[in-house]
Amino acid sequence: MIKDSEFIKSNDVPGPTKEEIRCLIRCKSEVSHDSFVVDIGCGTGGITTEMAKIAKKVIAIDKNSKAIEITSQNINKFNLSEKVELIKDDALSALNSNQEIKDKRIDIAIIGGSNNDLDILIETIISLLKSNGKIVVTAILNETKVEAIKKFKELGFDVEIVEVNVSKGKIIDRGTMMMAQNPIAIITATKNS
Ligand code: SAH
Repeated sequence: MIKDSEFIKSNDVPGPTKEEIRCLIRCKSEVSHDSFVVDIGCGTGGITTEMAKIAKKVIAIDKNSKAIEITSQNINKFNLSEKVELIKDDALSALNSNQEIKDKRIDIAIIGGSNNDLDILIETIISLLKSNGKIVVTAILNETKVEAIKKFKELGFDVEIVEVNVSKGKIIDRGTMMMAQNPIAIITATKNS
């Protein structure tokens, strides 16, 4: 896994998603060398980069042009630019207009940012998802968790919810101090038809 400190960052862009969370997303998504992945709300490119190391192709979408710029710098830094396509647009508009997504259909969609349109975003992704495809929602806000779980249940999806509280040890003179990070929920839904 790439260390958090290795990413190029900007104060104007959130991310990267912390290393341990990226690790879980990789496991839960079951990304493989054949996977066609869409990263919605790519931010700094933490998840885009990590998925592109394995996947066949990643489309990274963000409505913030600065996020696209920083993600571009990170995929170049890790020599992954050939596998990644960057789209600066609102997620819904990008998903509805991209021909490659419509033709190939998505194996794995990661939702790292959605504003207030998570409900419709999930519905749109489902219509573009392959059978057995997965949607992984990373949520910091309680409202995002509730909304995602409710929607997946309503649609009859198998859903797994994991919440992690990572603390990392910092070695100081007197011993090791555990530094807590924000709890994050990883909600994974699998399309069974
Ligand atoms: N996973 C990223 C961090 C994501 S931060 C990383 O590892 O670096 C969430 C991002 O979602 C922000 O950059 C924000 O601009 C984007 N975002 C939020 N709502 C969006 C939408 N509706 N369409 C596109 N991008 C969106």
